[in-house]
Amino acid sequence: MIDRLEVDDVSVRFGAVAALSEVSFTVEPGTIHAVIGPNGAGKSTLFNVLSGVYRAAAGQVRFGEVRLDRMRPFQVAGAGVARTFQNIALSAHQTVAQNLMLGRHHLTRTGFLAGGLGLPREGRERRKHAARVAEIAEFLELGDVLTTPVGVLPYGVQKRVEAARALCAEPRLLLLDEPVAGMNADETRRMADTVRSIRAALDITIVLVEHDMGMVMALADRVTVLDFGRRIADGTPDEVQSDPDVIRAYLGA
Ligand code: ADP
Ligand code: MG
Repeated sequence: MIDRLEVDDVSVRFGAVAALSEVSFTVEPGTIHAVIGPNGAGKSTLFNVLSGVYRAAAGQVRFGEVRLDRMRPFQVAGAGVARTFQNIALSAHQTVAQNLMLGRHHLTRTGFLAGGLGLPREGRERRKHAARVAEIAEFLELGDVLTTPVGVLPYGVQKRVEAARALCAEPRLLLLDEPVAGMNADETRRMADTVRSIRAALDITIVLVEHDMGMVMALADRVTVLDFGRRIADGTPDEVQSDPDVIRAYLGA
């Protein structure tokens, strides 16, 4: 299976605002691809298109053989794509384990919340999923807080729970929307290490939207730069960093 992500001439409008204008880029399987740009550049809109939340007015998104841009969010999840949100979208009063289990919802036959019939097979299924959840939690250094309600955890840890929940869906493509936003320097470093190890250990393709340039430059194989909904650059971190259009966009000149 060739899990290349191809974003092809995608446009999205909100009334008079062109949030995305004919944006194209390709993400090679197994790479970490960053999408950067100033506030309002269209990064979150792009993720919403990739995850089936918004419909593109024009253009196509293909992941391997499938068209993502005609799918609804649950279908995108079924196609092997999981995402996190810029603003944490977890159930604050539920435990880490419960939140992670929700990430596996579409992998279960009936869904955990539908209420079981108490059949032995369901018990086995549930234990299997719980074991995998514990494994992923361990991988993201969340093993010690599995029974802690998410709401009482520090912000940086909650962001890790978000990433873990997305991984619990067993994606082949992981979309991270500003994974280190609001984190301190130490949390940022740990998160960068985590993203690297996710790619290395799980062989997942990662697209991340990020404001923190240092993080992007240290982590990404390739970078696509958006400004006012347009792609203004695309290349390796070094290429992009020295691009006059990018410098201008970031300096606001
Ligand atoms: P970024 O994530 O790069 O900061 P966004 O994708 O959130 O940018 O926003 C791109 C542009 O689209 C902005 O001008 C924003 O105000 C607008 N926009 C985003 N979402 C909506 C929406 N649901 N309704 C109206 N305008 C929106
Ligand atoms: Mg955003």
